[in-house]
Amino acid sequence: KVTRTDIPSAQYGGRHAVTMLPGGGIGPELMTYVREIFSYCGAPIDFEVIEIDPSTEGNDDLDYAITSIKRNGVALKGNIETKSQELSEVSRNVAIRNELDLYVNVVHCKSYPGIPARHQDIDVVLIRQNTDGEYAMLEHESVPGIVESMKVVTVENAERVARYAFEYARQNNRKKVTTIHKANIMKLSDGLFLECAKRVHKDYPELEHDNMIIDNTCMQAVSKPHQFDVMNMTNLYGTIVSNVLCGLMGGAGLISGRNYGDHYAVFEPGTRNTGTAIAGKNIANPVAMINASIDMLNHLGHKEHANVIYEATYQTIVNDAIRTPDLGGNHSSTDVVENILKILSAKRVNWPHG
Ligand code: ADP
Ligand code: MG
Repeated sequence: KVTRTDIPSAQYGGRHAVTMLPGGGIGPELMTYVREIFSYCGAPIDFEVIEIDPSTEGNDDLDYAITSIKRNGVALKGNIETKSQELSEVSRNVAIRNELDLYVNVVHCKSYPGIPARHQDIDVVLIRQNTDGEYAMLEHESVPGIVESMKVVTVENAERVARYAFEYARQNNRKKVTTIHKANIMKLSDGLFLECAKRVHKDYPELEHDNMIIDNTCMQAVSKPHQFDVMNMTNLYGTIVSNVLCGLMGGAGLISGRNYGDHYAVFEPGTRNTGTAIAGKNIANPVAMINASIDMLNHLGHKEHANVIYEATYQTIVNDAIRTPDLGGNHSSTDVVENILKILSAKRVNWPHG
């Protein structure tokens, strides 16, 4: 099933409880902006904020975060830094996705008109297998000087991510799904991923299905990105291609990403950056996290709140050209947020429950 309306979520008196994981770097400041906007327009969300300190021993914070997401069903998330290269220290971001079985990541790369970028009018939906593949974290040194790393492809996960991609294409009037792979070299693993996509495609005869090798995909994406419609990718290829496409259309600060499993949903900026170097300087672009919060409101059925925030954000960066340096502007993060609040204030009469 692909419509996610069946995901359980905690609801009390018309309000939803949502887990908020600010993470490191720019995460906490971006969350402050989201909370400011939500409280300004009365979005009926109560955040349960859980800080995860990556420098602490053990996984108590992480376990608590996972328990909270299981209870609430939904989370808004910043990136949690993995400082250590120690084998024993797994990425908490990966652990959350695996533990909640968030098997698909969706990044809709849609250009904003007039934002300086390498290409305009991009509209590509990136569907990424989110739990296995190259992220299995099964690495070992077999003998000194020889390291082996396992890439895991399972029929179950390859089929359900493909089904998600085709179902998304059908429900959103898309025409074509392109499966990205390197099956000419990784014949068994990527071969299986491709074979599963071809099998699932049989249930979607009205859609076109083609496939492309990952290296050529990167070349095609930078030169002719408009040829793509919906892309179906393994975990590592998915993150590479989403970074390429986000980079082409204005970057890490703009686009949001959604992680879904059968039971839970986690919303975050599309390229999952920590932004350590720009933290605390009032220059981070707040839009990707605001877009993630809009996705979250839509997911929970708060369409009107989602729409007013979306329109105010769009108007701020497109019409009013209030943009942070990553978008070629010279405005601060708080300039962007204040402009959004100003627009919301002018529209107050149209607010839901307002
Ligand atoms: P990672 O967490 O993968 O190490 P970084 O923090 O290095 O990622 O971010 C990658 C790049 O994207 C950096 O140049 C960073 O400044 C930029 N970036 C990420 N998020 C934002 C944002 N919200 N606004 C502006 N630039 C951003
Ligand atoms: Mg970095």
